[in-house]
Amino acid sequence: MMQRTEHTNNAPRFANKPVLVFWETTKACPLACKHCRASAIHDPLPGELNTQEGYALIDSVAGFGTPAPVLILTGGDPMVRSDIFQLMGHAMDKGVKFAVSPAVSPSLDSEKLTRLRDAGATSISVSLDGACSETHDRIRNVAGTFDNTMRVIREANAIGLAIQVNTTVMKSNIREMASIFHLIKSMGVKTWEVFFLIKVGRGSEVEEITPQESEGVCNFLYDSSMCGMTVRTVEAPFIRRVAAMRRSAGMYHDDVYTGLRDELSALGYRAHWPSSIASMGTLDGDGILFVAHDGSIYPGGFLPLKLGDSRSGNIVEVYRENETLKGIRNRSINGSCGACVYKQTCGGSRARSFASSSDPLGSDTACAYAYSDLHSLYGQQCDDK
Ligand code: SF4
Repeated sequence: MMQRTEHTNNAPRFANKPVLVFWETTKACPLACKHCRASAIHDPLPGELNTQEGYALIDSVAGFGTPAPVLILTGGDPMVRSDIFQLMGHAMDKGVKFAVSPAVSPSLDSEKLTRLRDAGATSISVSLDGACSETHDRIRNVAGTFDNTMRVIREANAIGLAIQVNTTVMKSNIREMASIFHLIKSMGVKTWEVFFLIKVGRGSEVEEITPQESEGVCNFLYDSSMCGMTVRTVEAPFIRRVAAMRRSAGMYHDDVYTGLRDELSALGYRAHWPSSIASMGTLDGDGILFVAHDGSIYPGGFLPLKLGDSRSGNIVEVYRENETLKGIRNRSINGSCGACVYKQTCGGSRARSFASSSDPLGSDTACAYAYSDLHSLYGQQCDDK
């Protein structure tokens, strides 16, 4: 019988500072991915933070106190900024650790990767949405991107630059998730971050997976997290609820999960390690802050609720004092997430709540727990584990 327990901690963990501050350094990008959050374009938009304004933003991140949040330089493609290495140098001078999310274009060559390593990047992240070029290049809209991604992973590994792979799970690649895991694991990737679609930017044009399919994918990711890979999700905090249910109730069964689990097993993977899924984690505005290309401050990159402006305001004050962010951190949320026993552990995607109802404190519409009785799908005996 499933026990409906959760890890309870009523004190907000990230009340004083976020763990990560994302800076969308530019909208410009050579790619044109179908699900792009930023609706990235070929040329920079007017109004992007200039070098001095970028320095000021980095100073603000340092202003959260030591250790400062990690700054994620994202875009668009941050590598198209001519001052990107100056900005990295300033971050190093201020004691702000940073990671970079470059677009995988032919210009991201071994020389650039070496410069990134030598500039002090703690890691880079690249996107991989398919286990083969047919799937990935179709989603990325540029032929050859899959091959370039394979090359970048190999070259980064060769020079000792830590690399994370990001995958957005969609209708068109859900059945490839086990193959993607196997591909990147065999290439030595240690961290896999799986994004669950939010209907913003070009993502609104792509069919998202159903709550039931999300449940199956999260169960598969829970298995993957015990196979020697650090697995994280973006905009699917309910994986923490899935992990809690698996720990208390045992196995889970549905078609999506069973297919992916069987493929993982056939590829030779067994759950030998403790799960890397943390029992508590971040949400937009709770451990996460996002600064857009024009300095606008948001709770997260998928939550377009403007909180202030880094040009005229102080991001430390915005993060600590904004009432909506306090509501997210205090779990003063409504709807199905507000009534859920996993509210503290999970809290639901605030971005998806905003996308579906314009309320950042409402229900996460992708969570199967809110719509169905999952008890009958958990707690069944599994034959091969
Ligand atoms: S209902 Fe909301 S809080 Fe509960 S598990 Fe689902 S997403 Fe999380």
